[in-house]
Amino acid sequence: MQDRDRVLTEQNLLFRNVDFSSVEYMLERSAVRELVPGDKLLQPELPNEHLYLILEGELRVHLVAHQTLEHASLVAGECTGEISLVDGKNPSALVVAATPARVLAVPHDTVWSLVDQSHDVARNLLAIIAGRMRHDNSALISSHNQRAQYEHQATVDALTGVHNRRWMNDAFPRVLHRCALNKQYSTLMVLDIDHFKHVNDTWGHLVGDAALKALANIMQLNLRPHDLLVRYGGEEFAILLPETGVEEARSIAERLRKMVAANEVVSHGVTFKITISVGIAPVIGGSSLEEVFAQADEALYCAKENGRNRVEVAA
Ligand code: GH3
Ligand code: MG
Ligand code: MG
Repeated sequence: MQDRDRVLTEQNLLFRNVDFSSVEYMLERSAVRELVPGDKLLQPELPNEHLYLILEGELRVHLVAHQTLEHASLVAGECTGEISLVDGKNPSALVVAATPARVLAVPHDTVWSLVDQSHDVARNLLAIIAGRMRHDNSALISSHNQRAQYEHQATVDALTGVHNRRWMNDAFPRVLHRCALNKQYSTLMVLDIDHFKHVNDTWGHLVGDAALKALANIMQLNLRPHDLLVRYGGEEFAILLPETGVEEARSIAERLRKMVAANEVVSHGVTFKITISVGIAPVIGGSSLEEVFAQADEALYCAKENGRNRVEVAA
């Protein structure tokens, strides 16, 4: 082995705390491989019979299921191929040269001889594998967290923090189905801010947004934990009240209506009040979300027609 490669090999993690001169002779069947950027060193579809010690350059690791997604980068002093060394299977990832690189290909049986010969080599190999597992675990956790965050963003309205229409289309039919199975009452409420266009036209959109947030807040604070609140349109909200009959729903709606009407919205230097109109429809066993919604919407239309700031129940 050339002096320079000897020094670079000795510096590899595998030989940390190892008297290199006493094991060097065991590397005689190991060869240096030169890689150009893009060269594939390890591929999941090809068996691997070497542990590669990186002497120079940088390699990138891509997970099998995400060949375009980079998982890790490996530099001089590190190694790769240790998982197939241990389990005898094909590599679990694709490893590609990111820069011109040089690696020492150490045959598996040589690695095992080194392990037999030196406790420190064995300890270093364990540390390398543990480091890899730790890295993989934290990558898994962060990808899981990221997915949970994306799912949350997809189902929650950013302005008000309440669920959105997409969530409603998934959740409401399931609740309706369960109520039908258990022969329970439930009630749908739809509500809409009165003359909201006027708020926007008078004080601007940001003030309008503040009113929407204030309304959502009042509802979130005053509904029961199992009531399902959704912002399904610009200034339109729906509430599915499980195990709730129409008369109970009416008194809940009246309470909300009064609270909203009494609440002062303060935003961008203006103070004002809003009112809401509410339409209520009972969920009759087996009816679809569309059917119940159409009924509640009709009741809402009546509340508007009858002067706004009102609650109406579907006929
Ligand atoms: P009505 O009493 O009949 O409901 O009258 P309205 O003016 O509230 O009803 P309309 O449907 O004509 O207007 C709804 C307005 O809601 C139009 C739009 O400017 C406003 N709006 C919808 N989404 C948002 C939003 O996210 N932010 C703000 N600031 N305004 C919104
Ligand atoms: Mg509207
Ligand atoms: Mg409106």
